[in-house]
Amino acid sequence: ELYNKVLELKGNIRVFCRCRPLNSEETAAGSVMAVDFESARDGELTVISNGAPKKTFKFDAVFGPQADQVDVFQDTAPFANSVLDGYNVCIFAYGQTGTGKTFTMEGTKEARGVNFRTLEELFRIIKEREKLYRYDISVSVLEVYNEQIRDLLAVGSQPGAVSKRLEVRQAGEGMHHVPGLVEAHVNNISEVWEVLQTGSNVRAVGSTNANEHSSRSHCMHCVMVRGENLLNGECTKSKLWLVDLAGSERVAKTEVQGERLKETQNINRSLSALGDVISALATKSPHIPFRNSKLTHLLQDSLGGDSKTLMFVQISPNENDLSETLCSLNFASRVR
Ligand code: ADP
Ligand code: MG
Repeated sequence: ELYNKVLELKGNIRVFCRCRPLNSEETAAGSVMAVDFESARDGELTVISNGAPKKTFKFDAVFGPQADQVDVFQDTAPFANSVLDGYNVCIFAYGQTGTGKTFTMEGTKEARGVNFRTLEELFRIIKEREKLYRYDISVSVLEVYNEQIRDLLAVGSQPGAVSKRLEVRQAGEGMHHVPGLVEAHVNNISEVWEVLQTGSNVRAVGSTNANEHSSRSHCMHCVMVRGENLLNGECTKSKLWLVDLAGSERVAKTEVQGERLKETQNINRSLSALGDVISALATKSPHIPFRNSKLTHLLQDSLGGDSKTLMFVQISPNENDLSETLCSLNFASRVR
């Protein structure tokens, strides 16, 4: 109740900032922390430059290097509830490569991330409501690379393979969808885990450098929820997007050419399109430029209107990454 009110006041967009710990190489190299988390409880973090505070940022929540997956999910769980109440929801992770986008969204087998935990929470609530509602859940997993959609659950899906062309369509005034995209029905959380694993394994297949490929494409999970109120027969349909975005680091155009340049331009274009859409929504602009990229076109139903959006801005604590960290924090401040 209170939670929803807070969301409304903020135009339904929330921003959480998460900072990874220094890794062992950085620690061994004596790297300096450039972020201070003293006021993290108040949603604040301060960027330190040359030993002096440079700028303070405020978000809906700040998770320092000590925060674990459970801490992060505690504040994320209410979004699962919203999906079952019929709202469209979009949760995405933004930031420089290596800052923990995949760790936050996908996580590891031992430390599962937001994708798995959100679905687990959906099934928990479904069980709780089973006398009043019946729900039907299906999941699609796709990747957007160079403005092309690839279905990660389609049989024979290969990177670079020219399979059938997937495009975003809108059914009349209704929801956007991708005709031909595989929708896997899931009846319980172990089926969810299998689907998530399949998607992430297929994604890695065939790329010479799986990490590099994944940092240059957007990995997107779409969870479709159909609900039926067993007392009055009323039906709801809602959609949850879980998105691990391509790395936001700026690549100097002079450093890359050919395929790599096209990749870079497509990433820049789609991430700035996302920023434009969210800031247009935040300022209640009459024109929201959803069609400027595949990413925003896909997410259209789950951004704006009465849908709820959660952005994780992921950052590195390392002083060497300071300029990228500031870019990400500024991007996140712009959308809030
Ligand atoms: P990205 O997807 O943004 O490129 P990753 O999720 O792959 O970044 O994270 C880079 C590395 O840092 C991985 O080895 C990951 O396990 C580790 N890492 C990221 N965030 C955390 C965290 N909060 N706690 C512990 N390890 C983390
Ligand atoms: Mg990643």
